[in-house]
Amino acid sequence: MKIGCGGRFSGYRENMRSPGEKRLIQQAFRFELDPNREQRVLLAKSVGASRYVYNWGLAESQREYELTGKRPRRGELKKRLVGLKQTECPWLYEVSAHIGQSALKDLDAAFERFFKGLKGEGPKSGFPRFKRKSERDSARLYEVELGERRLRLPMIGKVRLKETRTKHGFEGRILSATITRRADRWFVSLAAEREREIVLPKPVRSPRDVVGVDLGLKAAAVIHDGETIRVVEPQRALRNNLVKLRRLDRQLARKKKGSRNRAKAKLRRARLHYKVSCQRQDFLHQLSSSLARTKSVIVLEDLNVRGMQRNRHLALSMSDAGLGELRRELAYKSEWYGATLVIADRYYPSSKLCSGCGVIKDTLSLGERVFDCEACGLSLHRDENAAINLRRLGLGRLPEGLREVKPVERKALAPAVIGGVKPASRKQEATARRSRGETRRSTRQLVEVLA
Ligand SMILES: [Zn+2]
Repeated sequence: MKIGCGGRFSGYRENMRSPGEKRLIQQAFRFELDPNREQRVLLAKSVGASRYVYNWGLAESQREYELTGKRPRRGELKKRLVGLKQTECPWLYEVSAHIGQSALKDLDAAFERFFKGLKGEGPKSGFPRFKRKSERDSARLYEVELGERRLRLPMIGKVRLKETRTKHGFEGRILSATITRRADRWFVSLAAEREREIVLPKPVRSPRDVVGVDLGLKAAAVIHDGETIRVVEPQRALRNNLVKLRRLDRQLARKKKGSRNRAKAKLRRARLHYKVSCQRQDFLHQLSSSLARTKSVIVLEDLNVRGMQRNRHLALSMSDAGLGELRRELAYKSEWYGATLVIADRYYPSSKLCSGCGVIKDTLSLGERVFDCEACGLSLHRDENAAINLRRLGLGRLPEGLREVKPVERKALAPAVIGGVKPASRKQEATARRSRGETRRSTRQLVEVLA
């Protein structure tokens, strides 16, 4: 295990480009649709067709795998889909042919992810699951046309938008459109390709331009800029609404299957879910935008979000805070605003490392909220300690061209940890140093140096 070495850097390649240069980027634009009654029916048919074909393809693949030990290729499934339409499912002709093909493509991708995960070539991914109705209902379409107030969808026609194209700031060439239903509302997400001027990485002019961000469970984010610490409270919307949600769940369970009242209760629950997810999105976007806009270097931990979500005890807080989403947003917004995102190595011990003296603790349970260092006596909130460490990791590895911090400051900021030394020996070393009467800065002193 290498320590103090890690860090993937994004955005540095742009260093070599000249300002004003443009390149193609992909961006998604989401619009709410305002469909009329007939269009609602057609939209529902579209997402229904997408789900139907996906599930049919999955069943077909499973059946064949059991017989032959191989799953049919996508081209083969496509051919069979034509047969299916001609015989059993003529209603599939009522929607765009792209919908079924996209569904098969998604299924193929789900299988690929699963097999890659098995071989250890990618993150672990479950076996493709059958899609259930009204669970993330969506369908992907092509050849759509966006007007100022309307979106033309194949086989559906011109659907009104709730917001104009200009107001939404749409730009670019549409690659595909994904329609989704959330509660009883319809949305379209347009994947567009457009040119965007390359933003050069912002240089570090003051130590405060570099922030360490510890994403956690108790607080959504603890942000340290070397001078001050900012604790961002997690988005509790989901939790606050849980009581309400549970009540709706109970109401739903009491309703007879297939009844109108059940459908109504379902809708009420879906609406609440939707509201919660909007609040969460707003919160995350505000946080990620403010960081990417104002900071030059943002250092994050490589949180194993998926692993944590598997732990049921943590699952609620995790989804509440939406950490994975925050990281995703920071990644692309950093590129937009010229910030440099540094992802600390998964093995970088940001929590266990003492920000005062560099000793690494053997264990630190999640329950321990305060970091107490036996070697130097530092006592600090664990997330604050982690944020300081992350920040320092980023500072220690600033690439040429970004550094405008004075050498004196950099020296003070240099990580106390040098790669390749075992934790145990480092602890001994620290103790030895202390017994030799050497002085070490406390965190508070360090903070002063940075300020
Ligand atoms: Zn210490």
